[in-house]
Amino acid sequence: MDKIRMTTPLVEMDGDEMTRIIWKMIKDELLLPYIDLKTEYYDLGLEMREKTKDEVTKEAARANMKYGVAVKCATITPNAARVKEYDLTEMWKSPNGTIRAMLDGTVFRAPIIVKGIDPYVPTWKKPITIARHAYGDVYKGVEMQIPGAGRAVLRYEPADGSEAKEITIHEFDGPGIVQAQHNLDDSITSFAVSCFEYALETGQDLWFSTKDTISKKYDHRFKDIFQDLYETRYRKTFEERGMEYFYTLIDDAVARIIRSEGGFIWALKNYDGDVMSDMISTAFGSLAMMTSVLVSPHGYYEYEAAHGTVQRHYYKYLKGEETSTNSVATIFAWTGALRKRGELDNIPELSAFAGKLEQAVIDTIESGKMTGDLALITSLKDVTKLNTLDFILAIKEKLEELLK
Ligand code: NAP
Ligand code: MG
Repeated sequence: MDKIRMTTPLVEMDGDEMTRIIWKMIKDELLLPYIDLKTEYYDLGLEMREKTKDEVTKEAARANMKYGVAVKCATITPNAARVKEYDLTEMWKSPNGTIRAMLDGTVFRAPIIVKGIDPYVPTWKKPITIARHAYGDVYKGVEMQIPGAGRAVLRYEPADGSEAKEITIHEFDGPGIVQAQHNLDDSITSFAVSCFEYALETGQDLWFSTKDTISKKYDHRFKDIFQDLYETRYRKTFEERGMEYFYTLIDDAVARIIRSEGGFIWALKNYDGDVMSDMISTAFGSLAMMTSVLVSPHGYYEYEAAHGTVQRHYYKYLKGEETSTNSVATIFAWTGALRKRGELDNIPELSAFAGKLEQAVIDTIESGKMTGDLALITSLKDVTKLNTLDFILAIKEKLEELLK
């Protein structure tokens, strides 16, 4: 068989620990034999980040902006223990945070659904994709502990020197607490554009929910920005394609989600998205089956797995012990990126290959061959638990059948 040719390189961001091991296996077994893989390689492994003073992360993000599509391996976000372990000169920032800030993107997380790994909510038949706004609110909030009686105020001083605005937060009689949050019209607009664009691209309805009945200025601003964009830029296309943009109060949304079949995107403010994405991913069965894509309003895409570097498995691997690490989300990061590259460069064979590889993954699991994390939760009988490499080789076998 001739290998599938590519025209534009994918930006490849390598990473750390067990996912770095899986990364190479996926390339060697599932991609390189079939694709004349063109990538521009950036090593975001912690050692290279230290060596380059984290410049490599920024270079990779700039390459993402140049070529449009990237695929990223999970990376370590250093904490105090990692600074010691890797002898770091600085506690480098989260690469995901750096890339997201440079691309101005929104992260969409969606579960991969297979028979035998059943969601805890029996009505859920299709994925629910969470879009979390990743700027501001309580994450950039300022807080104060109030020691005793006194007045707390919210004050704005216009840069042009015009009259300041001030409102009383509360007249305290005794001790208490206050908090102030902010957000930016630009950031909310980017978030909304990414959500509408991604909905159109994936052909899914878009839901958005806040608490605008209580937060009549703050949350209401989010609602208005989404609604204005919808009316001025998206309504026509959504209606032509029979798609829906649906705004509802967050408590109503939560109730409807539980009763729904899934199959839509749920856009959420920063805190709501933080909380709900953990609920949704757990309810769908496994973090190892969760994909993640960063979509920028300028049309850049970065695909990755939602899980981390699976450190515990890596230390077993280093000791020569057998591991059974699930590679599904990392494989889907590659297929997501390859399909997108195929679409942008008009290489249908590349997109078709991505679809077949995804099918091979699903067929493998549904035939009872899976990694330990899934074997623990599956409803299938006669399951074979495979080690990390054997699972990838089982997928390869299915893939070869599908490619015939
Ligand atoms: P993790 O790597 O997601 O793993 C946590 C646990 O979840 C694992 O120990 C394992 O459970 C299970 N698990 C996750 N992915 C799995 C897979 N593919 N196959 C099988 N089991 C899987 O989270 P962590 O251990 O908290 O974080 C490790 C490192 O990842 C940290 O340095 C963190 O900074 C980084 N991280 C990176 C990203 C990213 O790059 N996007 C995201 C999150 C975390 P068992 O041990 O019970 O088998
Ligand atoms: Mg969370």
